[in-house]
Amino acid sequence: MVRLESVGKRYGGLEVLRGVSLEVPEGGVVCVVGPSGSGKSTLLRCVNRLETIDAGRVWVDGELVGYREHRGRLHHLRPEELCRQRQKVGMVFQRFHLFPHMTALENVVEGPCTVRGVPRAEAVRRGRELLERVGLADRAGHYPAQLSGGQQQRVAIARSLAMSPKVMLFDEPTSALDPELVQEVLGVMRDLAASGMTMIVVTHEMGFAREAGDHLVFVDDGVIVEEGPPREVLAAPRHERTRAFLGQVL
Ligand code: ATP
Ligand code: MG
Repeated sequence: MVRLESVGKRYGGLEVLRGVSLEVPEGGVVCVVGPSGSGKSTLLRCVNRLETIDAGRVWVDGELVGYREHRGRLHHLRPEELCRQRQKVGMVFQRFHLFPHMTALENVVEGPCTVRGVPRAEAVRRGRELLERVGLADRAGHYPAQLSGGQQQRVAIARSLAMSPKVMLFDEPTSALDPELVQEVLGVMRDLAASGMTMIVVTHEMGFAREAGDHLVFVDDGVIVEEGPPREVLAAPRHERTRAFLGQVL
């Protein structure tokens, strides 16, 4: 469903990703861990073309991200094509970025109505279903400021799902939350993983990685240092850098 092939990314002279290759099958849940500044967010941003890449290729749902092939040559996608392609990828950030002047339901309904042209009544029906799915059926009329951080993050997940993405990217979705709110968000993510959603999750929650992840990737200094089944990597990291990192977070 997602494939990165030898992806490289630079910011000026700084090489942030170097030869990163990764394959996420349909329904797969890949967790990405690594020290601050190692390139985890950049990796996610390359998947939905928030960043252009300097080397390699990225595919989502069988399509090359950012380009189309015509007569054997690659051409940049036009903005509207890129927009259509981006809709395949949902992203949830550390900060929730909800529209503050809209209720939970309006936040969820906005994208489908304005971007996808879904009739409002249908978007509202679907929006209510999604809020129920994230355990917030009774908060539909609340504004973000009236919701806890965990509730806001669950609205943000529902809002992403409303666009019917093929893949969901999570960038440290629980890092900004008070500890007692972390599990309610991880619970929603577990349900989503169990429902067969393809997911790439940058997280420091090793319990989540162990139980919900199919594959764990340890990134350091822009390269994948080690990867494998989460239980194996967490129980017996082979690489010294992985051991050092896990020693700090476990
Ligand atoms: P964290 O755990 O702190 O979120 P990360 O692993 O997500 O870190 P990235 O955000 O991907 O790391 O950043 C990787 C490197 O790229 C860092 O050195 C960062 O300073 C640099 N970087 C990220 N975005 C930019 C940018 N827009 N311009 C220049 N440098 C950048
Ligand atoms: Mg980051």
